[in-house]
Formats: sequence, structure tokens, C-alpha cells
Amino acid sequence: MNYDLTSYVSFTMLLEKLTKKMEATRMSEVLVVCPMCRSEQPITNLLTAQSNQNVIYTCPTCQYEKRNIPTKKG
Ligand SMILES: [Zn+2]
Repeated sequence: MNYDLTSYVSFTMLLEKLTKKMEATRMSEVLVVCPMCRSEQPITNLLTAQSNQNVIYTCPTCQYEKRNIPTKKG
């Protein structure tokens, strides 16, 4: 199961989808395609969760970085 960042309108939407997916499978099995260099990496190698619930996506191949902006829910 691969996820291409470029196919999502927003990074936050992708994260929400990934979170739901990760509840049903192991995180290491979820692959994400880098929008810059097209390399596939396990989600566990790419996302860094911060204490403020912000999540940083960093590609280890090309150093592409993207941050989500926490959204208000409810
Ligand atoms: Zn990359």
C-alpha cells in the first residue's frame, strides 16, 4: 500500500488517512512516495511527531521536508 503525497490536497488529509490505516496495520508496512525524488520509504522513516502534535515529514533521500499544520476538530 503506497501513498503519494502529491495525490492529496493537503498534507493534513494524508496524515489523517495514514493514521486510520496505521490503526489497522503495522506502521512499517505503510510506504510513502516522496513527491520530490519518488523514492518509497516506510512511514516510520519519514514522520517525526513533535510534542505539540505537529508532524514533520522528512525524506531521507533528498531531504525534502514538509510540516503539517494542526487543524481544529469538532
Ligand atoms: Zn525525496
